[in-house]
Amino acid sequence: MPLHLLQHPLGAHVLTHLRDKSTKPALFRTLSYQISLLLALEATRDLAIEEKAIETPMEPMSGRVLAKPLVVVPILRAGLGMLQPFHDIFPDVSVGYVGLERDHATAVARSYYCKLPPLDGRRVIIVDPMLATGGSAVQAVDVVKAAGGREIVFVCIVAAPEGLALLQKAHPEVPIHAGAFDRELNSRKYILPGLGDFGDRLYGT
Ligand code: URA
Repeated sequence: MPLHLLQHPLGAHVLTHLRDKSTKPALFRTLSYQISLLLALEATRDLAIEEKAIETPMEPMSGRVLAKPLVVVPILRAGLGMLQPFHDIFPDVSVGYVGLERDHATAVARSYYCKLPPLDGRRVIIVDPMLATGGSAVQAVDVVKAAGGREIVFVCIVAAPEGLALLQKAHPEVPIHAGAFDRELNSRKYILPGLGDFGDRLYGT
C-alpha cells in the first residue's frame, strides 16, 4: 500500500506552524484540528455510498449517502488531538481507544488500555500523530484486527521512514495517510525535523 501524502497547500501551511517551537499549546491544538480535518477528508475519499430517495422542495430525486458507519481509534494519548474533526464531520461515528505508552528510555510501546466498539463491516481509522518507530502503529493494528477490524486505515500527521517501513512490512494492506514524510529518527527515536513530542506540546506537559 502506498503512502498517501497530503497535497493541500493549507496542509503545508498548518504543518509549518505546528512544527514551529514557538507555537503555544492553545494554537497547537487548533492547528492539530485543522490538519486532522484535511487528513480525515483524504482518508475517507473512497468511503462506500448508497442511493437514497428523497424529495427536494421541487421534486423527488435519488441522492447518495454514506453506506456504513465509521470507527475512529485514537492511540492514547496524542491521538486524541486528531479525534474531534472526525466527530464533527461524520454523522455516524463511534470511537474506540487503544492506550499505548512509549517508554522514554527504550522507545518501546506498552499497551495499558483498550476499548473498542463493534468493528464488523466498518472502516476503522486509527489515528496517531507521529509515526516514528512504527511500534505503536503495528500494535494498534494488531489489536484492531484481533477485535474483528478488517478495513483499516492509518492516519498520522508526520511519518518517519523507519515507522513507515515497519508498518508496511507488518500490515501491507493498510493504507497510510500522512501530512508529511520526514527525514529520519534521532537516537532517542524522535522524528527529524519533526515537531517534538506531540502529546507534550498538545497538553503543555
Ligand atoms: N512521538 C512524538 O511525539 N514525537 C516524535 O518525534 C516521535 C514520537
